[in-house]
Amino acid sequence: MTTLEIEDRPSTNHDSRGNPPRIDMLVLHYTGMTSAGAALQRLCDTVARVSAHYVIAEDGRIWRLVSESRRAFHAGRSCWEGESDLNAVSIGIEIVNPGHEWGYRPFPEAQMASVERLCREVVARHPIPPHRVVGHSDIAPDRKSDPGELFDWPRLARSGIGIWPPAGPSSPVGEIDSGRALQNLRTIGYCVRPASQTAALVAFQRRFRPHRCDGYLDPETAARLEEVRAAFYRSRAGHTSALRTLCRARK
Ligand SMILES: [Zn+2]
Repeated sequence: MTTLEIEDRPSTNHDSRGNPPRIDMLVLHYTGMTSAGAALQRLCDTVARVSAHYVIAEDGRIWRLVSESRRAFHAGRSCWEGESDLNAVSIGIEIVNPGHEWGYRPFPEAQMASVERLCREVVARHPIPPHRVVGHSDIAPDRKSDPGELFDWPRLARSGIGIWPPAGPSSPVGEIDSGRALQNLRTIGYCVRPASQTAALVAFQRRFRPHRCDGYLDPETAARLEEVRAAFYRSRAGHTSALRTLCRARK
């Protein structure tokens, strides 16, 4: 396979990750702007103070704006697994798409092929386990919807990027335990309070049950929460044992 072609288009919007640096998360976005040019301009605008490590155009071109060793400004006010400075610990990739505001549309094959290849390289360079690959809407459900319900998460999961458990047989319609659903959302990583449960459920549905994102805790959503929670446990267990092996190898 040829090496991935990446064009440098430096943004000045970055700072230090902290000491020692830790990179164990990947956050995927859509640009939500009318064109790739407009998005690049904004992500390099010193006044806007926003950026990402990479931008991927609809034709598959990739730009690097910020070095992975630096903290880019893409996550904003956000939270995952109880942690809030997610820019410090993540790589941020912006995928060009007008988004829900300007005409949300499917991500073309050329673009998805680049997304997949770049993500594979990123998770190979850093200890980023599948359960730490998230969408912007997962970490900021009350204000973000990207990359949205058209994004092909199953494709990435087949390459080992992120989680997508196969959907089991539909569960019988019964009493839905909303307390357990809330607990499952938290276990998966969503920072959710009872008041923001609907927003978190919409984010969960965009990601894991994308054919209906209404924030309603129906039996299918409740069953999907169980499947995803189990997959997150498997990913965490795998990550812990991989870290133990790494520690032993370094001794
Ligand atoms: Zn975003």
